[in-house]
Amino acid sequence: MSSNQNDVVFFDENGLRTDGRRPDEIRPMKIKIGVLSRANGSCYLEWGANKVLAAVYGPREAHPKRTQRAGQAIIRYRYNMQSFSVEDRARPGPSRRSSEISKVSREAFEPVVLTDAYPKAAIDIFVEVLQADAGTRTAAINAASLALVDAGIPIRGLVSACAVGKVGGKIVLDLNKPEDNYGEADLPIAMTEDGKITLVQMDGHLTPSEFEEAMELVQKGCRQVLEIQKAALMEKFVADGNFDETVE
Ligand code: UDP
Repeated sequence: MSSNQNDVVFFDENGLRTDGRRPDEIRPMKIKIGVLSRANGSCYLEWGANKVLAAVYGPREAHPKRTQRAGQAIIRYRYNMQSFSVEDRARPGPSRRSSEISKVSREAFEPVVLTDAYPKAAIDIFVEVLQADAGTRTAAINAASLALVDAGIPIRGLVSACAVGKVGGKIVLDLNKPEDNYGEADLPIAMTEDGKITLVQMDGHLTPSEFEEAMELVQKGCRQVLEIQKAALMEKFVADGNFDETVE
């Protein structure tokens, strides 16, 4: 069977996508914060069929010592895809793809983490992809953001991530696997709570006006994600009684 994008039907007669979503709708997201007792902070997140686990360690003394920075903490981010997470077994160990994702994801967090408070320290963020269905780097960033909060690391605000793309000539939010594979463009984005973009990548082709439309739509997607992240934090910290809502 040909995998040409022209052969793929992305929308039904009602304009809904192959998984029943509207073009501006993200996949359902489920979050559990604080799932690992050995990590300082952790988060398990499902987004559609993606399943990711984030663990944060630190701030702790950075090793090897030559990696230490006198006036601030360093952030390290490791994105890893389990070999059983994809249809064809993923080769274990680092790859060009995972190194690139780790680098851009670290950079997505650097503007929000108050690294100045921890000279010579390291903050380690590990994300394991347990099941992949397109959008794993954005799912990983959303989980890592909450794991940082769970670790008590001071941040200027949450980072929320979402992808936008073009499939069948239309701009759609949060691409699923067939849309990612056979669509015309895919742009993962990460954004701070105050609307600053900390990650933009693009695979494929968009005209300048399509790019503008995509950026507008994806910011709405990131806001939807932010609301879900905040609800998960409220559930964790209010339900656990670790957060006192009353003001004296
Ligand atoms: N994928 C795969 N094997 C790989 C890498 C990726 O099957 O070695 C699949 C996986 O479902 C992933 C999707 O392709 O989610 C899209 O990958 P991409 O590189 O676009 O990153 P993502 O969208 O997951 O951030």
